[in-house]
Amino acid sequence: MLSTKPYPQTSHHHNQKQVPRILLIYTGGTIGMIENPASGALEPFDFPRFRSYVPELQGFHLDIDAFAFDTPIDSSDMEPRYWVEMAHVIATHYNDYDGFVMLHGTDTMAYTASALSFMLQNLGKPVIITGSQLPIGQLRTDGKENLLTSIEIAAATNEKGQPIVTEVCIFFENRLLRGNRTTKINAEGFNAFRSYNYPPLATAGIHIKYEEHLIKRPQPTAPFTPHYLLNTGVMILTLFPGIGPEVVDACFNVKGLRAVILKTFGAGNAPQKPWLMQRIERLIDNGIIVVNVTQCSKGAVEMNRYETGLHLLQAGVVPGYDSTIESVITKLMFLLGHDYPTDKIIRLMNTNIAGEITA
Ligand code: ASP
Repeated sequence: MLSTKPYPQTSHHHNQKQVPRILLIYTGGTIGMIENPASGALEPFDFPRFRSYVPELQGFHLDIDAFAFDTPIDSSDMEPRYWVEMAHVIATHYNDYDGFVMLHGTDTMAYTASALSFMLQNLGKPVIITGSQLPIGQLRTDGKENLLTSIEIAAATNEKGQPIVTEVCIFFENRLLRGNRTTKINAEGFNAFRSYNYPPLATAGIHIKYEEHLIKRPQPTAPFTPHYLLNTGVMILTLFPGIGPEVVDACFNVKGLRAVILKTFGAGNAPQKPWLMQRIERLIDNGIIVVNVTQCSKGAVEMNRYETGLHLLQAGVVPGYDSTIESVITKLMFLLGHDYPTDKIIRLMNTNIAGEITA
């Protein structure tokens, strides 16, 4: 799947420690596609050609290497096994680079960012994921800005020479967002991502202004630890007025099901129908984890606020707090992948492990 070694981009100064080293990882997506001038069709990534569209890369006083997935992936085809490969690339090259910039399609970028935030435990270096709405070769592309600023952020250090950003982020348009707080909200505009429940970690204007107090720091005593196990026995059930037992039964009887995310109303409320509560209770009795996430983009689940939420809490439904759906589903895949006992998974769902919830 992956090229065996990164191909060099700029002249190297490996002996001069002061030149930061950045690994650019291309996974796919619109950003790295290049328009064939004859046919107008979008063709997949070829790093030397891609570079010719971004002569600005030469302007950095950085060593930039690139690593490309052999077959670029439209991010709508994203799968957990690719997250494993991404985590592998970062872990394998962790000590060789000061920062990582990953080019990725925008469609499922928030899922990838969330998954990696759990898989790359105790990360001490920047992993900046970016992409674009228009290919980098097009005149009005948003890809150049996104790429160049992401590289600058991945190389940024404080006065002590330590990386400023030590987490998995999405940089898009002009904001650096915590990866597992981010959602794609726009299929058209350049400002396509939002983090409704956590403020931006940095804003890029004339200067890049970092909010250092908001950035997650690694535990100084623990090492960086990559994880590769994921279990996809999860599902999302969106509630709607009029939902009936047949729909719920079809969802709850899926083979291999280990966890259900209920997308509820408002502050975590669901219809108070006895048939629904019985089914949820039965599911929980069978050891399936049920997590409550609100359909609202902003705010948190508070099951004890209304009668319609209290029933869920009493049945043993786990609060999703202010999680994005992308973060809660990847967190479940991650925890289930480790085959932890149910009570441990429930405890960790109630714990902020990668900055994903305000618990
Ligand atoms: N479908 C593309 C993808 O997500 C769209 C994009 O890159 O923005 O890979």
